[in-house]
Amino acid sequence: MSTSYTIPKTQKAAVVESVGGTLQIKDDYPVKQASELAPGECLVKLEFTGVCHTDLHAAKNDWPVPAKTPLIGGHEGVGHIVAIGEHTQDSPVKVGDRVGIKWLAYSCLECEQCRKGNEQVCVKGKYSGFSVDGTFSQYVVSWVSHVTPIPANLDSAEAASILCAGITVYRAIKHSQTHIGDWIVLPGAGGGLGHLAIQYAVAMGLRVVAVDTGAEKRDLCLKLGAEKWVDFKETKDLVKDIKDATGGAGPHSTIITAASNAAYEQAIDYLRPGGTLMVVSLPGQGKLSCDIFFTVTKAISILGSYVGNRQDAIESLDIAARGKVKCYYTLKPLSALQETYEGLEEGTVVGRVVLDMKQTLVYHFWVFSSRHDS
Ligand SMILES: [Zn+2]
Ligand SMILES: [Zn+2]
Repeated sequence: MSTSYTIPKTQKAAVVESVGGTLQIKDDYPVKQASELAPGECLVKLEFTGVCHTDLHAAKNDWPVPAKTPLIGGHEGVGHIVAIGEHTQDSPVKVGDRVGIKWLAYSCLECEQCRKGNEQVCVKGKYSGFSVDGTFSQYVVSWVSHVTPIPANLDSAEAASILCAGITVYRAIKHSQTHIGDWIVLPGAGGGLGHLAIQYAVAMGLRVVAVDTGAEKRDLCLKLGAEKWVDFKETKDLVKDIKDATGGAGPHSTIITAASNAAYEQAIDYLRPGGTLMVVSLPGQGKLSCDIFFTVTKAISILGSYVGNRQDAIESLDIAARGKVKCYYTLKPLSALQETYEGLEEGTVVGRVVLDMKQTLVYHFWVFSSRHDS
């Protein structure tokens, strides 16, 4: 614990002041000082943070549950712990450790759900960039019990989006009741969650039908290991095309990663009997409507899956660290957050946007693994 860091009084942060307010980049946002941290809290100096569709909802406040205001969004942060609250007991991490900040910032670890490993639904849960300030700032306060150690051989920028998008799809696939060789359909496959879902699914021995639109997303999906591609804008009959792609019977599971109600509507029709619909993405509002007759007579399972617990975080990062999953991202500065939100709203973001919290220059370039090119 001999490492010590100089902590500035103010920082750069992207702040939404009030409900429905505009995003403002501030240079003078206060940094919580080491002496102000409560026991169990830690201060993390961020290197990178991913931008998730959830951040857009939080900024717009269009979910049934309101976000705090003023709000600093963001929940895919990677950085180093620069301070830990005095009198913290039994900390699993120390000052200087590289850690990740995920959606679930805190849970009580004592209630029934926490004891069962369902800490994401703890009633005392706190959420990064939603009920507590998140990672669109240079420093973030989190909890030593819930930050995730980043494997040494995983680059910080690459780890960022595993912390929400990766964990979320990893857990959903794990619970999709599929087995090696089964078909899985991924609506939204070319997006932030979807492109990681393809790789986790392939790593688990599943066969992937990617559903999305446009040549750029198609090329990415096929490159990442999807066997079949269905363009939802070009198809005349989505249900038939998906069934045909799997040899006629339909997929064993579908993981809906597209944040649109429409993506849910046809799942019951194309799923194979006994199939599983994993409800993952969160449109601003919407009802899951499905034909009750066919849900029963096809014995369809419908399961909600919500991010992941601390163990899911460790497992999904470990798979990425072993090169099985690689985030496809564009690196941008914090000042590009607003335009990123606009791109997410329009559905034009291919893969993920990761913000470099260490610099302020404007630069845009694709970063992609040579491992997939080989
Ligand atoms: Zn997220
Ligand atoms: Zn709890």
